[in-house]
Amino acid sequence: MHNRRVIYARRPAGSLTADTFRLEESDMPETGPGQVLCRTIFLSIDPAARAWMQARTYREQLVEGVVMPGHGLAEVVASDSEIPVGTIVTGPVGWQEYAQLDATAVRVVEVRSALSHYLGVLGITGITAYIGLMMLGRPRQGETVLVSGAAGATGNVVGQLARIHGCRVVGIAGGATKTAFLVNELGFDAVVDHRSRSFADDLKSACHGGVDVYFDNVGGPILERVLRAMNVHGRIVCCGVVSQYDTDDPVPGPRGVPGLLTTKRLRMEGFIVHDHVHDWPIARSELEDHIVAGRLRVIEDVIEGLDQAPQALIGLLEGSNLGKRVVRVAQDPAPTPLVPTRPNDDVSEENRKLRRDAGPYSDSR
Ligand code: NDP
Repeated sequence: MHNRRVIYARRPAGSLTADTFRLEESDMPETGPGQVLCRTIFLSIDPAARAWMQARTYREQLVEGVVMPGHGLAEVVASDSEIPVGTIVTGPVGWQEYAQLDATAVRVVEVRSALSHYLGVLGITGITAYIGLMMLGRPRQGETVLVSGAAGATGNVVGQLARIHGCRVVGIAGGATKTAFLVNELGFDAVVDHRSRSFADDLKSACHGGVDVYFDNVGGPILERVLRAMNVHGRIVCCGVVSQYDTDDPVPGPRGVPGLLTTKRLRMEGFIVHDHVHDWPIARSELEDHIVAGRLRVIEDVIEGLDQAPQALIGLLEGSNLGKRVVRVAQDPAPTPLVPTRPNDDVSEENRKLRRDAGPYSDSR
């Protein structure tokens, strides 16, 4: 039996392309003392994976030749630790079918929902949205919350949580499919298309009363523009800089820092979700309550097959996803969730359209 895996083969020059990666087979890993052998079921596709290639971030820069790192959900199929075979875990499995990991590196999942949710809304993504918005942004009822990357994994949860907490919610997303979905299906009050020529004017009119909380997933020129729309005593939550990941030449800036922070008395704060592990249970429990009560919709984009992982990341950086993008590597051993996904949460048609609209790169690049 062999282990199929995706190798980070070559540092990209400019935008990410398929030849950054190589698919290969290796011998099956074996477990040593204190280790588990994990069979990957879902891989989380995260834009930060591109940033890891660029430079040192909150982790070391990637070295060519390693299995492409990534977070995933897996079943323990052999164990030399206290974690029994059959347990569902999340952890740094990497882009491969089987991973040998220290038992201390994985988190046991108490399965109460569809497994993919533990990489999305009930996993790091949803928890990032919750902690960033509720603990750093601290929105008050009636305030205007603006979120960029609003149709993506983190952004759609931020927008829905803000709506649940009685805020006026404005999103920034790319293209008509996404903007219509957020307004019509997720109840955003307004959504601005950042790819439109009239973006600056549209943003101004969508945020006519100013912005109290800006949840920033993208950085770059959008952040610079939003700084001017902030209200006095506004809060900017710096979650990520996706506009600057897929390049060798990130733009400096934004202009207006620190001048506008001073004159408007703004608080601008970055965070890494792993620094808030003690708050994860509360975040997950509130998110689960909202799902069960039907207040929070789970928006996922499932791509089939490990060999599609490179394209899934390339496409994500270009915006061909609606909601949390995961790659299904193997069949789900627990197909009956206790908290079922509501039938109207199926957005596969919208996701197919986004991939089609994204053009030929989605299959051939
Ligand atoms: P998403 O699902 O939001 O996917 C990325 C999205 O970024 C795309 O769908 C695309 O949407 C948008 N995008 C790409 N390029 C640009 C651009 N130039 N300008 C504006 N938008 C762009 O990913 P995630 O939800 O997983 O991640 C969102 C952010 O959260 C990232 O910055 C990530 O690094 C960060 N993050 C931070 C964590 C933390 O602990 N601080 C933890 C997890 C994630 P569109 O079509 O709308 O342009």
